[in-house]
Amino acid sequence: MKIETLAVHAGQRIDPATGAVSPPIHLSTTFERDVEGTYSRGFMYTRNNNPNRQALEEGVSAVEGGAAAAAFGSGTGATGAIFQALAPGDHVLAHVDAYYGTSRLLREIFVRWGLQADFVDMSDLSAVKKGLRPNTKLAWMETPSNPLLKIVDLAAAAKVIHEAGALCVCDNTWAPVIQRPFDLGADFILHSTTKYFGGHCDVLGGIVVAKQENDLFQRIRGIQYEGGAVPSPFDCWLILRGMRTLPWRIRAHSENAAKVAQFLSQHPKAERVHYPGLAKHPGHEIAKNQMSMFGGMLSLEVKGGRDPAMKVSTSTKIFTRATSLGGVESLIEHRASIEGPGTQSPEGLLRLSIGLENADDLIEDLDQALR
Ligand SMILES: *Cc1c(COP(=O)(O)O)cnc(C)c1O
Repeated sequence: MKIETLAVHAGQRIDPATGAVSPPIHLSTTFERDVEGTYSRGFMYTRNNNPNRQALEEGVSAVEGGAAAAAFGSGTGATGAIFQALAPGDHVLAHVDAYYGTSRLLREIFVRWGLQADFVDMSDLSAVKKGLRPNTKLAWMETPSNPLLKIVDLAAAAKVIHEAGALCVCDNTWAPVIQRPFDLGADFILHSTTKYFGGHCDVLGGIVVAKQENDLFQRIRGIQYEGGAVPSPFDCWLILRGMRTLPWRIRAHSENAAKVAQFLSQHPKAERVHYPGLAKHPGHEIAKNQMSMFGGMLSLEVKGGRDPAMKVSTSTKIFTRATSLGGVESLIEHRASIEGPGTQSPEGLLRLSIGLENADDLIEDLDQALR
């Protein structure tokens, strides 16, 4: 089946009790035991499993082409479960431009619990090679990256990582549907489903999808219900509802972002525009090979640095000043001041999440704000 069809039907079944087409939300935390003492209907207690969570995991796994998935209460919760599944003394090699929360999780929590972590620019394959150690168990890739939209060559990096005996995770939050990490060598895919899967800025979630149900995935599954950071049935229902329209939304986000990027790249007040769909973007050729479209995120460096950038972010009328991404509404954010001390983000940089409004209105709004 093609991805639009999978997105509509995966994890979907008509409710056997009522015939409901839209699935019911099973709020029950506990499920009846058979007289024989077994649980023939498959559910016992909602932390272990729940019909809505199972449907979500089946659905996302099918859309990504994986074997299984484990859903969590947030993207960060899902990321943490992957690191928890490793052992003290294991080494993680992460992309220097990985999501800020992911590098903080490694540096501030997991290093204290005995993991070793290094950060390298994974768009440079020789840096990946140099960073791998005999005890490297996992490499954390993310592309396009945040907030500079750097591109990692997933197939080439995965090859180097596998040769060193490590597994690869790809955080695919920014490019669901339009980038297929399992086809490019990733062993696990991480999504913050808070973003494009949910798609409406109204639910927090995360999921780990496994290409194969290997030992590491079994440990992640154990951490899911023994650790207990599980999503609520309603959250699972909302994320799966969002997934039904994901292929069409991501296409529209990408088309809009391409138009906005094109406009900004010719604007006299724009110092630089980071969007992998622009021919002059340093990762454009690789992005063209590994993505079918270039996504809905871009960033803009305003000439003159912090103050003019702040002024732009307070002058838009359609873009809302807020963090996060992937919703129907366009958002604008001054990344350096959100990340705070230690940020790698240039002071003049504004990150834009391009929504599903008409691109002409978005362009007009940015044009007046830049003036
Ligand atoms: C938002 C985000 C996360 C973290 O997800 P939460 O749901 O906020 O915990 C991880 N990776 C990327 C790329 C993100 O954009």
